[in-house]
Amino acid sequence: GGAVDWARVREDFPVLKRQVHGKPLVYLDSANTGQKPARVIDTVDDFFRNHNANVSRAVHALGSEATEAYEAARGKLAKFLNVRADELVLCSGTTFAINLVAYSWALPRLQPGDAIVVTRMEHHANIVPWQLVAQRTGATIKVAEIDENGDLDLEQLYALLTAEVKLLAVTHVSNVLGTVNPVRDICRQARKRGIVTVVDGSQAAPHRPLDVAAIGCDFYAITGHKMAGPTGTGALWARREHLDAMPPFLGGGEMIKQVRFDGTVFNDAPHKFEAGTPNIAGFIGLGAAVDYLSAIGMANIEAREQELLAYATDRLDRTEGVRIFGRAREKAAVISFLIEGAHAHDLATLLDLEGVAVRSGHHCAHPLMQHFGVPATCRASFAFYNTFDEIDAFIAALEKVRKLLL
Ligand code: PMP
Repeated sequence: GGAVDWARVREDFPVLKRQVHGKPLVYLDSANTGQKPARVIDTVDDFFRNHNANVSRAVHALGSEATEAYEAARGKLAKFLNVRADELVLCSGTTFAINLVAYSWALPRLQPGDAIVVTRMEHHANIVPWQLVAQRTGATIKVAEIDENGDLDLEQLYALLTAEVKLLAVTHVSNVLGTVNPVRDICRQARKRGIVTVVDGSQAAPHRPLDVAAIGCDFYAITGHKMAGPTGTGALWARREHLDAMPPFLGGGEMIKQVRFDGTVFNDAPHKFEAGTPNIAGFIGLGAAVDYLSAIGMANIEAREQELLAYATDRLDRTEGVRIFGRAREKAAVISFLIEGAHAHDLATLLDLEGVAVRSGHHCAHPLMQHFGVPATCRASFAFYNTFDEIDAFIAALEKVRKLLL
């Protein structure tokens, strides 16, 4: 369990040695994108230097090396999520993954009178695609609400799951509140009623041991850049029966078996959904990221981040004027906050001058901001490579900034 040398782990991240505005960087924006260990950077570099070729097209040595490494990365990611590799569609990220479900699963199926349930705490990536589907099919959208702590109101959610509901879209972990939703229970309730479930795993996969098969959802989306991998990588896991029934989303090379002008035969899933040249180097890098995270151990990562979260929450609670948004029963290491009387962007701008990187804004969750009646919050999000000293530096900077602003 607790045998990880976290100071040693931190050394793996070159960018964390940086200074900004003459101060040591305190990177508290990992929910936005995660930093990359040297092993991932070197893997991408090595691919371009020594193996670069396209996948699945060439029989030459480099071509087969690239294809093997790309498919090996799919296998690693599948193992990490505990799903079958042939049920894992590689794509550019969660946004693409959810849109794939929207366009290939929902659009051909939904009709006027049908309903889609989303929650108040969804990222726009898990709202807007459903609004587009609703507009085009005549389906309606129903919203599951949250309580004052940022937990889903499960009673209200289950009451929404009536006969006209065909699809339920829910995030595993909120990128704003850190709320960890009981997705296993939620998916069981949905399944009992024949409702298909889409779980947004963007903020779960980087931070906790995952067993997607055990969740019992129909679709699970992840994004690679939040889990130590390169940007432009992600995946959609889907049950085989859905993948086989879904028409392709994009057409082109790689996704076909035979093209004739009198009828084209598509490739089998997951390749059916992977038209065109993929982000080969990126996925090989993501494979290295998965190896890296697994070597530390996701349970160790979760425990470490929970310690950082508890410490930071306690220190913020003792800081004058700080309001924290989200006190969920189970929470990931994300803290949204404001200082009463100060604007989120002013706070973040002044914190940046102290070397502290936090995000400010609506965090792609307008409906959640509307719920709390604020236009924006600041968000400090932690990863296993952060330190208790950095939290002290963050609080010291916040005290200084508060005095400047008020
Ligand atoms: N859902 C959640 C909960 C997120 O935090 C994010 C990224 N901020 C996304 C979806 C979108 O991920 P991407 O931009 O990588 O497609």
